[in-house]
Amino acid sequence: MFTSDDRIRIKDNLNTIKDRIATAAKRSGQNVEDIMLVAVSKNFPVDAIEVAIEEKIMNFGENRVQELIQKYDILSERCKWHLIGSLQTNKVKYIIDKVHMIHSLDRLKLAEEIQKRAESCNRVIDCLIQVNVSGENTKAGISPDEVYEFAKAVSQYPNIKVKGLMTIAPYTEHPENVRYVFKQLKNISVDIDQENIDNIDMRYLSMGMSHDFEIAIEEGANIVRIGSSIFGERKYG
Ligand SMILES: *Cc1c(COP(=O)(O)O)cnc(C)c1O
Repeated sequence: MFTSDDRIRIKDNLNTIKDRIATAAKRSGQNVEDIMLVAVSKNFPVDAIEVAIEEKIMNFGENRVQELIQKYDILSERCKWHLIGSLQTNKVKYIIDKVHMIHSLDRLKLAEEIQKRAESCNRVIDCLIQVNVSGENTKAGISPDEVYEFAKAVSQYPNIKVKGLMTIAPYTEHPENVRYVFKQLKNISVDIDQENIDNIDMRYLSMGMSHDFEIAIEEGANIVRIGSSIFGERKYG
């Protein structure tokens, strides 16, 4: 059950998060308007998203295709949908006409499928290359020393527009411990940018979640993906 207390709590949380983003942006020398907040709504109901929309949040992140589709059926184009979780090739067809951005481009087979489906519905899909900076073997993503080759390969696909990089830092009690992950993703994006690959743009760095987004912003994040600090603790997933 979604209650009026839930509504108030989400509004309060959003105000706090917006302030914290603004403060971190100032510290990092970025304009707060240049930092995109993707509210991660996975496991939370459409009612919760509607409260965030009232608070002028435009971008929502989902990590499961099924859930994204269900919510899209209700909310449609009232907001923009970001696919932030690993994407199976056989599910691309369900979201290709719905997503605003895919954050988890991590293999050529997936790029091939996105190209094929995007072409058939005449769209160009904004994608971020997911990088496994920390090297944890439980994490998806291209390894840092293969990002350049991967970007070169993806640049051949006219219906995919690479707009930057994404990473997930390891969970830690002390987010200072993962500052190096954000620094390294920034460095990779600067290096790739200097290569001037056709059709590859390094405008966005999607990094930072509830417990580490301020450090990510200090290191140059301009997309942060925040779930539990807005909507509350998830019961599962
Ligand atoms: C769940 C999730 C988030 C948000 O995590 P919180 O800790 O709830 O802020 C961000 N990015 C990805 C890829 C996620 O799966």
